[in-house]
Amino acid sequence: MPCYNKKTIRDIDVSGKKVLLRCDFNVPLDKQTGEITNDKRIIASLPTIQYLLDHGASIICCSHLGRPKGEWKPELSLVPVAKRLSELLGMPVQMSKDVVGEDTRARAAALKPGEILLLENVRFDPEEEKNAPAFTKALADLADVFVFDAFGAAHRCHASTCGVADHLPAVSGFLLARELEVLGAALTAPKRPFVAILGGSKISDKLGVIENLLERADVLLIGGGMSYTFNKAMGGKVGKSLCEEDKLDYAREMVARAREKGVKLLVPTDAMAAAEFSPDATPVLCDASDIPDDLMGLDIGPETIKAFTDEVKKAETVLWNGPLGVFEFEAFSKGTRAVAEALAESRAVTIIGGGDSAAAVQQFGLSDRMTHVSTGGGATLEFLEGRTMPGVACLEDRVEMVAERA
Ligand code: ADP
Ligand code: MG
Repeated sequence: MPCYNKKTIRDIDVSGKKVLLRCDFNVPLDKQTGEITNDKRIIASLPTIQYLLDHGASIICCSHLGRPKGEWKPELSLVPVAKRLSELLGMPVQMSKDVVGEDTRARAAALKPGEILLLENVRFDPEEEKNAPAFTKALADLADVFVFDAFGAAHRCHASTCGVADHLPAVSGFLLARELEVLGAALTAPKRPFVAILGGSKISDKLGVIENLLERADVLLIGGGMSYTFNKAMGGKVGKSLCEEDKLDYAREMVARAREKGVKLLVPTDAMAAAEFSPDATPVLCDASDIPDDLMGLDIGPETIKAFTDEVKKAETVLWNGPLGVFEFEAFSKGTRAVAEALAESRAVTIIGGGDSAAAVQQFGLSDRMTHVSTGGGATLEFLEGRTMPGVACLEDRVEMVAERA
């Protein structure tokens, strides 16, 4: 298991230090006006920034925005972010004219405690994603300490997500620390019963997640598009539903493994199906293992909702990735909504991971009633696979790991 117990900014002295802070300022922009349409990520970064400023550090902040692929793209400049950050902090935020060029070096050198500088989009430089030694060194040379707080980019091995840690002491900011604490506890020492809910469109996106959670959870609830492959693998008829023919053996193997391990694995027993993939389609209640040839399952049915919410009620930890139906269509959002409500009502530790899952919970207005909604998309999935992530591995461990004896 990777180590999730990493030093944070509270564990080091930042006073008088220049801190290179890697944030996730990858905010959505309006294509026409270039305005930030949602500043949630900037707001989320404020506690770490404020702590550093209050403790006498100066901050050299960096982030990527979009996919400029190593080219200077004015529409992906971080200037609007500097402006918004300045408004939110109620103080000036300097903006660099480059990434690690002359302008940045001069501004970073002149930076005083309590001041903040934002570099241009790190991905404007092709060397960032290559984690190229000269670029990485130039970035590290700007500062005394590296603070990583961009969980959504932690699965990338780029200069600003892990490379600079070869040259600087490296610790986590508060956002990353919270992700590690909550997700790490779920994987290493969950309060039991531990119920994992998996949905979404495809099994093939989630192979590693299913396998890792089978090792750790007491109950595994499978819904969404991926559940039809399980239903078919167990001899059911799934009509036009999403189904991955090349994953039938895999699904059977997972069912067998769950049985061996004593993990309770539930797949839907009923489904709300439709003749076409459309928001206006009429939902038809079917047996999930006997869906007519001309219909496709787009949501779990009432009996499955009951079975799943009953498991949630008994849980002490619930970890959920992947919507249980096409929640984007009102008529097929009932299953996802009912289970999200059960999590909101529960006293258990409740964790939501995955971009679409977070969007679903947000759409239902239930985000605040979860213990934690992870900010990573792909990063969260890699975490749940139990993989070592470069942006986490590069940070200093909080406790010295005692060498294990045979
Ligand atoms: P996450 O981003 O949370 O990891 P995924 O990307 O795996 O989730 O899956 C989300 C998508 O799965 C949603 O867009 C949803 O519409 C789709 N989905 C869920 N159930 C079904 C289904 N029965 N048929 C087709 N698509 C589905
Ligand atoms: Mg998704």
